[in-house]
Amino acid sequence: MPIDFTLTAEQRELQMSARSFARTVLSGVADATRHLATPAERFAATRPFYEQVVKAGFLRRMIPAPLGGEGTGVFDMAVVAEEFQAVDVNVSLTLFGSLLGLMPVMLAGSPAQQRTFIAPFLERAGTPLAAFAFSEPGGSANFASPVPGTGLRTAARLDGEEWVITGAKQWVSSATGWDGNGADLICVVCRTDPTAAPDSAISVIAVPRSAGGIKGIVLERAADLMGHRAHLTPRFRLEQVRTARDNVLGRAGGGLELVEMSFAGTAALVGVFGVALMRAAFDYALNFARTENRGGAAPIIEHQAVGYALADAKMAIEAARYLSWKACHAMDSNAPGAFELALHAKVFGSETAVKMITDLMRVVGIESYDHQCPLAGLLQDAMAYPLFDGGNMGVRRRQLHALLKSPGYDPLTASGAA
Ligand SMILES: Cc1cc2nc3c(=O)[nH]c(=O)nc-3n(C[C@H](O)[C@H](O)[C@H](O)COP(=O)(O)OP(=O)(O)OC[C@H]3O[C@@H](n4cnc5c(N)ncnc54)[C@H](O)[C@@H]3O)c2cc1C
Repeated sequence: MPIDFTLTAEQRELQMSARSFARTVLSGVADATRHLATPAERFAATRPFYEQVVKAGFLRRMIPAPLGGEGTGVFDMAVVAEEFQAVDVNVSLTLFGSLLGLMPVMLAGSPAQQRTFIAPFLERAGTPLAAFAFSEPGGSANFASPVPGTGLRTAARLDGEEWVITGAKQWVSSATGWDGNGADLICVVCRTDPTAAPDSAISVIAVPRSAGGIKGIVLERAADLMGHRAHLTPRFRLEQVRTARDNVLGRAGGGLELVEMSFAGTAALVGVFGVALMRAAFDYALNFARTENRGGAAPIIEHQAVGYALADAKMAIEAARYLSWKACHAMDSNAPGAFELALHAKVFGSETAVKMITDLMRVVGIESYDHQCPLAGLLQDAMAYPLFDGGNMGVRRRQLHALLKSPGYDPLTASGAA
């Protein structure tokens, strides 16, 4: 019965423990951060919560077992992601941003690199952060552009046994760390050959933090985000940042492919992020509709228009969840259509979340426009999903459109029916 999406006993246990942790611990993030004036202060206030995530073993639970963790795949990450994101997106994205940061190591690192760089993230102690430094000020949609486009601008040159990295990055989750001096590990996407074509000019280089910080990381500003208000996405410079020559992950010059692979791993999860916010919004709107008369004779759920809107919202949640689960399962089983499904899950889950939360605001009415009601905040958080992780314009253009145009494309591959 491989079509059956019933969770295994272990997955169900994971779901329950993640749900209980989110409700008892992560539910405190909003009160601990909302009154703070700056993004840096809000991020700093999330540290005790992230420490508890690590202590409870959720970070090591996401790292694949062959690499020393207890992870069993993207599907299990999705189970945790839905429970965490439904309660708090900030600490949750710090966790999943770190997993994105580790992704190039997990996908392409040598056994020695994997041992060294992943070790701090296997502990049940501390607040280790990893970052995937891809996006740049001035835009990254055309990072693979050949001349006359500038493409990716951060560059690394060899100086003896070290790479020297110079450039600027922006939007990179947790990159400047808790103290502004760098995450524990930054995987920097940079140009290692100034003259080669993009498919052999770009590399991903690991920069581990040493005691005191990463020399040459200069924090310019932490973005004041529309949602994810207590999550850190800094703009920073890399001023002659030095790292060992053998810290290139995968093939030197093979970074283009590694970037795409790293984002494919998270695309399916973003679909689940959308599900999580829809679920939180639906729970609120359903309860409101069942308990509020708004001056009328009966709770508003008795009105057909309200019932229909809630029914549509619930359908959207189920559809987005199963598409995302299917994509995660395809990733875990290396199915030929996994990449396409992951992109579908990302685009569909993120855009459905924005639309559906807006629809539910209409169900609740004017109360939803006040931050005392959670729907406005959920919409602000959801607005990030079509924009980040490559952006849905970019996913459609660079990836889905390219796939559809490719001569060997078979529309049935994604459903496993080719
Ligand atoms: C909360 C959050 C966390 C994030 N975490 C990270 C992270 O950990 N690491 C990281 O590297 N980044 C991160 N980002 C940034 C983000 O993932 C990417 O920078 C972003 O998805 C790329 O944005 P963009 O496509 O709008 O790029 P831009 O280059 O800014 O493009 C701007 C617009 O121009 C359009 N455009 C450009 N060229 C073309 C073209 N040829 N044809 C059609 N349209 C075009 C794009 O589609 C887009 O609409 C994060 C962002 C947020 C909000």
